[in-house]
Amino acid sequence: MIPLNFPNNIQIQTTSYCNAACGFCPYPEISRELPMGRMDDELFMSIIDQLAEHEVSLVQPFLMNDPLMDKQLVPRLSYMKRKLRGPRINITTNGALLGPKVAREFARLDLDSIHISSNGITQSVNKATMGIDNPTVLRNVNVLADELRKSGARTELIVTGLLLHATRAEVFIARDYWRSRGITYFINPLNDRAGNIAHDKFEAQLPFDREVNRSQLLSYDMSGCPSLYSFMGILYNGDLVTCCMDWRRSLILGNARKNSLYDLWRSRAYRHIRQSSDTGRLGERLLCKQCGQNRFSIDQDVLQDHIDRQMEGTGQQDHLRVAKLLRETYEQDQQSVKLNLVRPV
Ligand code: SF4
Repeated sequence: MIPLNFPNNIQIQTTSYCNAACGFCPYPEISRELPMGRMDDELFMSIIDQLAEHEVSLVQPFLMNDPLMDKQLVPRLSYMKRKLRGPRINITTNGALLGPKVAREFARLDLDSIHISSNGITQSVNKATMGIDNPTVLRNVNVLADELRKSGARTELIVTGLLLHATRAEVFIARDYWRSRGITYFINPLNDRAGNIAHDKFEAQLPFDREVNRSQLLSYDMSGCPSLYSFMGILYNGDLVTCCMDWRRSLILGNARKNSLYDLWRSRAYRHIRQSSDTGRLGERLLCKQCGQNRFSIDQDVLQDHIDRQMEGTGQQDHLRVAKLLRETYEQDQQSVKLNLVRPV
């Protein structure tokens, strides 16, 4: 595979902190194990100035953190909007810190998209899955939606929820609620972040019973991984990582303080990992090997079998209802069921 002349998809960790404590995310553990910090303005501006000289499609000022933990996020987004003409700018946040003042600023900035990661629609489920206050998130997202409408911003506002054992009874209630507010809602499958979530913890959060969950776990050889040819992830201290899966910073590909992004993209370190990928040896790197394992999917046939078997048995349990809804939703409205929910052919 030939790498792009310059990466077209960039994530910048302007701060490494997050305010949530999600059971499906490595952050709580990682934040105790590894140094954490905030990117200084000089480095941030130098990165943006360099991006302005290249053709880039997407820039996201966060990486393995919540962007609103950066108190300078709004001025930094303003700088990005001033300097970057071509790329889309996206924010993904849990929404808890997105108060009315930030909502007004976001509406003024007219970002391309804002994704809110929200799991559950009730306080007990949201608190249990993410450790954040659900009424605050509901209020903040509704205020943001109103501000975007009032300002005429073109920003796409999307709420995404993971299909988990803990959320399965609520995903469709959440979808209907957000749709009633004119907000797009996507259901995403869980993944184990390339083995960064312990397997028993991951399995315990999958939505259906053990047998059905196991039948939905897929495994891929990740050689030819597009991230290595098109993506650049820059940590708060300028270190470069291969992708958003490298939570433990297992391979640092250089530092944006020491070299230009253009030179780093062509460096020996990048060439070496791409060569592993090109020659089918990417699996020798433990992270990439684990990245291909435990890809949770929803195979439509397995789902139908599950529904049929359950119909013969105990009747309308919670997971049966959700399985049926997923099946119907996928048939009628594929847009709201995202990513690898259907086994690729
Ligand atoms: S862990 Fe490896 S295979 Fe997975 S996205 Fe990162 S570079 Fe690609």
